[in-house]
Amino acid sequence: MRALLINVGHGQSPADPHPRHHVAPMDLAQCAALLEADGWRVELWDTVLTPQAAPAEIEARVRQKAPDLLIVRPLHASLHTAEHLLRSQAGSTPLRLAMGPLVPHVADDLLAEGPEGRAAEGAIVGEPEPTLIELLPHLRAGRLPEALPGLRLRAGQRERPRAFLKDLDALPIPSQHLLVGRGYRFRYPLDVDGPLRIGYVLTSRGCALGCIFCAPVERETFGTKYRFRSADHVVDELARLRDLGANGVYFIDDFFGFSPRRIRELCEAMLRRDVVLPWCAQVRAQGLSLDLLRLMRRAGCSTLCFGAESGSDRVLGLLRKGVTVAEVREQAARIRQAGIQLVGYFIVGVPGETDAERQSTYDLIDEIAPDLVQLHIFNVFPGAPAMEMFPERYVEEGTKFTGPLGLDQRMIALDRERRRFYRRYYLNPRYLGRALRRRWRPLLHNFGEEAEFVARTTRFFLERP
Ligand code: SF4
Repeated sequence: MRALLINVGHGQSPADPHPRHHVAPMDLAQCAALLEADGWRVELWDTVLTPQAAPAEIEARVRQKAPDLLIVRPLHASLHTAEHLLRSQAGSTPLRLAMGPLVPHVADDLLAEGPEGRAAEGAIVGEPEPTLIELLPHLRAGRLPEALPGLRLRAGQRERPRAFLKDLDALPIPSQHLLVGRGYRFRYPLDVDGPLRIGYVLTSRGCALGCIFCAPVERETFGTKYRFRSADHVVDELARLRDLGANGVYFIDDFFGFSPRRIRELCEAMLRRDVVLPWCAQVRAQGLSLDLLRLMRRAGCSTLCFGAESGSDRVLGLLRKGVTVAEVREQAARIRQAGIQLVGYFIVGVPGETDAERQSTYDLIDEIAPDLVQLHIFNVFPGAPAMEMFPERYVEEGTKFTGPLGLDQRMIALDRERRRFYRRYYLNPRYLGRALRRRWRPLLHNFGEEAEFVARTTRFFLERP
């Protein structure tokens, strides 16, 4: 039995030239592990790795494969491509499923009867693994069940909801062999001492916080209850990654920094078992003590990312971010003191933001001087609280990198201003000197990749939207 799992990623559309890196679809890799344990031969494709391949070419390749089971994971802004891909396989692959964070919002579209039938035969709604585990005997028999919690089979039908997994250690380690060395590009600074082979790991799921721009379709995990794997289960996966040749790790948890106690246990387990690889994770702009940050550094932490978002406390309040500008400053200083590099995410163009407030964001960036800055334009996504508050800002093809471009001249002017800021920040000799002092070794080892990134970034800086 052969299964083909496809992440229909964003690729790099000409409408969205903002340089970015890739995030591997860990939910697909987790499902691949369940299928492999059940005796399936699994392939995992990711269209972000082949941005030059036309959709028709991918459709033809899938048809040639004619797998017994096709699972497609659409992302926001790739839905139409994914739907088309599923539909194009109707004659060759009867078992066609969709899963992923976008699916709860689009399941009805994918299951709707059209003149050429339905795109998908079933849609896994919510956390996929518990549903897949119960689906396995049916898939082996080549058909879907009449009903199953978490599985939608018809447009308009409401499946019985499924509880979130409590014990994440009960899942097998994701099929990392399907991801490592496949060409994923990781762009954040990482202290590797050789050509980068990045590995992605999900150590926890869920986030109970309520940032208004945060949408389930943009997150890596499901649920508002925070759940996490044991330290040893995570270190087993890190050891597996190291065996596969990975020399750097990105923890893609939505909220890696939720529990300082859990981070401490994880770092201690890495050190105790001597599985120390350079790693990067996303934390909040508050709550990590210098003592803990130093332990993280010893356990390989190279880079931390946080969403500082704005230099204005009023705007932070509007975003329901739950941090203050003072906390952002202090956390950034502690991270630097511990010898860890910082990636800062910021948002401009929040509805009602004044010019002075936006300037305070630029000033804050200059002050805390992250090693890498991402300036997003405020956008709304399905499921985010902001969608209810500012529906007029929704643009179907918009991403956090483009914002609602095309909406009006103000957005275009904002994009130009953002590019001017990027130019000033990244081309500042002080920034360049600091970056070269810390990063000359990884830069040399990855010269080709870095040169391509610099060329892409320069194009983005200079381009007139
Ligand atoms: S942005 Fe991060 S902290 Fe805020 S709600 Fe989303 S996952 Fe949670």
